[in-house]
Amino acid sequence: MIVGDIKPIEEIVASICGYENILIVGCGSCVSVCLSGGDREAQMLSQELKRKVHYENAPPAIAAGSILRQCELDLIKAYHEVPAGTDAVLSLACGAGVQTMAEALDPLPVIPALNTTFLGASFEPGVWQEMCVGCGNCLLTYTGGICPIARCSKSLLHGPCGGTNGRNCEVSPDIPCAWVQIIERLSRQNKLDLLSGIHAARDWRPGGEAGPRIRRRTGIGGSPGI
Ligand code: SF4
Ligand code: SF4
Repeated sequence: MIVGDIKPIEEIVASICGYENILIVGCGSCVSVCLSGGDREAQMLSQELKRKVHYENAPPAIAAGSILRQCELDLIKAYHEVPAGTDAVLSLACGAGVQTMAEALDPLPVIPALNTTFLGASFEPGVWQEMCVGCGNCLLTYTGGICPIARCSKSLLHGPCGGTNGRNCEVSPDIPCAWVQIIERLSRQNKLDLLSGIHAARDWRPGGEAGPRIRRRTGIGGSPGI
C-alpha cells in the first residue's frame, strides 16, 4: 500500500494561509491503514488547525470529512459534496489522491497535507517498510520475493555490494541487507540457481523512464479486460 506521513504542522498552516474556509478531506484507503490520512486523522488535524496559537489573525473556519478513496474520480463525485463557501481543500490523501481531487474540484485549490513516501507493508503494528518502487518490470520471480530495487540501499540487481556488515547493510545497522535475505531465502527454497541465469539488460522504461505511465485494463495475455 501507499505510505504517507503528515507534513509538519507549521508547513500545513503556511500552506492554508489566506484561505478563510477550509475543508479537510481524509482518504479511507492506504493512508487510513497507515494511520496518517484517514477520517480519524482528518478530525484530529481539524482540531489542531482550529487553535488560535497557529495564527496572527483569526483562524479560518474548518470542516472535516473523508472519502472512501480520493484516487478515483467516480468515488470523489459520489461520496463528497464540497460545502458552499469553501475556498480551499486540504487533502490527507497520497499524491495521486490529491491530484485526482484537484482535477475533480478544479478550480478549487487542493492542498496536500501529507508527504507521500513509499509503497510498503507492515510486519508489526505501527511500522511500515518500503517494498516496491513501482519499477514496472517485476523481477521478484528471481529473487525469492524480495525486491532488491526497493530494499537494497544501492538497488543492486546482481548480488551484494561487498559492504554487507554481518547480515545488515553497510548503510545502517538498522537495515537488513536485502541480498543476504534473497540468498538465504533462495537457499531455503533450493532455488539458488535462479541467480545464475543470464538476463537481457534491464529495460527501465516501464518504470517511468519513458514518461508518465498509463495503465489500461487488460486481461490475461493482453486480452480485453472485463
Ligand atoms: S521488482 Fe519492481 S515491481 Fe517488483 S517489487 Fe521491486 S520495484 Fe516493485
Ligand atoms: S550491504 Fe546489502 S543492502 Fe546494503 S547496499 Fe550492499 S548489497 Fe545492498
